[in-house]
Amino acid sequence: MAKTRRPLTKKEIEKFKKMLLERRDEIWEEIRQDLKSRVSEEYHSAINDVKDEEDVAQLDLQEEVILGVMEARKKELEAINQALWRIEHNEYGRCLECEDWICLERLNVRPWAVYCLECKQELERLGKI
Ligand SMILES: [Zn+2]
Repeated sequence: MAKTRRPLTKKEIEKFKKMLLERRDEIWEEIRQDLKSRVSEEYHSAINDVKDEEDVAQLDLQEEVILGVMEARKKELEAINQALWRIEHNEYGRCLECEDWICLERLNVRPWAVYCLECKQELERLGKI
């Protein structure tokens, strides 16, 4: 795989931001569908308004239902929120470990990546992530 390591242009950052926001919407849509499939009719209209974790917490559903639905997607949501935070703070695109630029090819596939491929593989090998 080609590796393009360089600072991102404004345009590229905008593109990744859009991808991140779209993916976040998708995940919340999945969460809504999943919640709906697990709860009774009376909650369905309330679930339509769910946009973030706070809304879910206010749903007054059984905790185990919420946890079950959130668990699988929580990590990805956190990663996306972290990436969006890094965009706002001009830190987006740099590896958290070696501080080199994460290659563009990798960001295209996983715009929420915080490590370059080399660091990720090494950290995984060491069992740190
Ligand atoms: Zn790195």
